[in-house]
Amino acid sequence: MFENLPTTYDEIKDWRWDDFKPYADKLLAIDITDDNIDAWLTGYRQIFELIGELWQRSAVATTQDTTDEDANERYLRYNDEVLPQVMTVENQLNQKLVKSGIVLDGMEVPLQKIKADIELFREENLPLISRENNLGTEYDRLIGAQTVEWDGEEVTLAQLRPVFLEADRDRREKAFRLTFERRLQDRDALNDMWKRFLDIRKDIAKNAGMNDYREYMWKRLKRFDYTPDDALAFFDAIEEAVVPAAERIYEKRRQALGLDTLRPWDTNVDVKGRDPLRPFDDVQALQDKSVDIFNSVDPELGEYVRIMRDESYLDLDNRKGKAPGGYCTYFPLSNRPFIFMNSVGTHDDIQTMLHEAGHAFHAFSASTELPYAQQMDAPMEFAEVASMAMELLAAPYLSEDNGGFYTPADAARARIEHLAELPYLWAWVATVARFQHWVYTNIEDAYDPEKCDDEWESLFDRYMKGIDYSGLEQYKRFRWRAQLHIYQVPFYYIEYGLAQLGAVQVWANSLNNHTQTLQDYRKALKLGGAVSLPDLFETAGAKFALDTPTLQSTVDLIETTIDELEAVE
Ligand SMILES: [Zn+2]
Repeated sequence: MFENLPTTYDEIKDWRWDDFKPYADKLLAIDITDDNIDAWLTGYRQIFELIGELWQRSAVATTQDTTDEDANERYLRYNDEVLPQVMTVENQLNQKLVKSGIVLDGMEVPLQKIKADIELFREENLPLISRENNLGTEYDRLIGAQTVEWDGEEVTLAQLRPVFLEADRDRREKAFRLTFERRLQDRDALNDMWKRFLDIRKDIAKNAGMNDYREYMWKRLKRFDYTPDDALAFFDAIEEAVVPAAERIYEKRRQALGLDTLRPWDTNVDVKGRDPLRPFDDVQALQDKSVDIFNSVDPELGEYVRIMRDESYLDLDNRKGKAPGGYCTYFPLSNRPFIFMNSVGTHDDIQTMLHEAGHAFHAFSASTELPYAQQMDAPMEFAEVASMAMELLAAPYLSEDNGGFYTPADAARARIEHLAELPYLWAWVATVARFQHWVYTNIEDAYDPEKCDDEWESLFDRYMKGIDYSGLEQYKRFRWRAQLHIYQVPFYYIEYGLAQLGAVQVWANSLNNHTQTLQDYRKALKLGGAVSLPDLFETAGAKFALDTPTLQSTVDLIETTIDELEAVE
């Protein structure tokens, strides 16, 4: 549709909305017909590739150097001047597309998502959603300000986490109690904030004509392929299939540590008292060995990582001024994913690299294969299958004899640590997600913090078995307030549980037929968000089944693999 458009980021670096506007206006002015819809959608993609490139590049720059004033200014300018216009135009263009009534092949599911947004849209909810965002920032500030004194220094609660890996049990207990005593000081402020969140969410659901906020969020999160009842059945299945396995893994840990009972500060320390793994010294080794590992998994995937390394789309080292955390994003005009992390030479860094690389493969595959912008974004339930499955698929290549970092014994140790966390994650997903079902279908009761604590405690006791909380009940009852999703991103959590179910099934297939599994995995990634969730799972070779038998078989595989690896460790 548009000719002679810029092809590099440098050409659009200083673009303002006025530079984009003529193209958007042209798309808005066209009457969509059967004859021109392909060209119209192609033009849409061309423009949104430019916008996406500008947005992602300016956002990434602020994380690569938080002290870069120029980068910060660019990003703020994009947010203030460009983003509101982009959102308005995007909405107008999508309305136009829906009104045309034309549904091209592969656009059925994307159009269903667009329609859901249009149906939920209420002018009067905009100020409420912005108030909700501000309240989210207030929550961040409150949690971020929680510090304690440790070894004579003031540290954040996050900085205290490495203490739980230390062999000294008294220090771990002290750090645990200190963490919760500090959290409890904010009890009143968090309770007050909670009620304000509930007020806003009650109004948002009512304005949108929904029976309750759960019904509203189900639609907003585009959960077309499973109902709230399906989710509850999934949590029941977790109780049946996963909780006993998590208990067995904790029991093994208790015995290995030689303790009477396992306390909450005993869950992370190495059971054999070994120092943490130190797989690499410099970031070059992390990059190069990642290329080797992915080459072993699948040559095409190895080639993707090689391109990212050679063209500098990997920013992996920890340096002063860099923002914390790790992520993978995608520059649509350059057609390159970008991985950001803060590696310091621990095994966690490798795990992050394997995970984010899965997201990078997804971006490469979908953008190359699909014609239209509306088809690209995979649903979160499947986006995390791409990344979580890659952690498992690449794990056998962690040892030196397969191009990786470790002796066979250390590789086994790293894999055991990873696998042992999976049942725990499912149990935690059920606790956090099920609590929110209760909150938003009993919202008047949920205004009472004591009743929330009661409900939370009963769920915690049901799902988080195997850890002795006696004498720590008030910490346990308080714990939901420290789970940011419950405050900031309501209902967003089951995704991790569903994705993990898909990921373990993909890994199980690879044990029988590696080549076929990788083919299926790559085929599913190429579908982006163009088909339904069950279709994505099926293409990847997994069942989208939220039931006990499916969970049971994956949990059995996890436990038998841990047993096998323990013989090597
Ligand atoms: Zn992820």
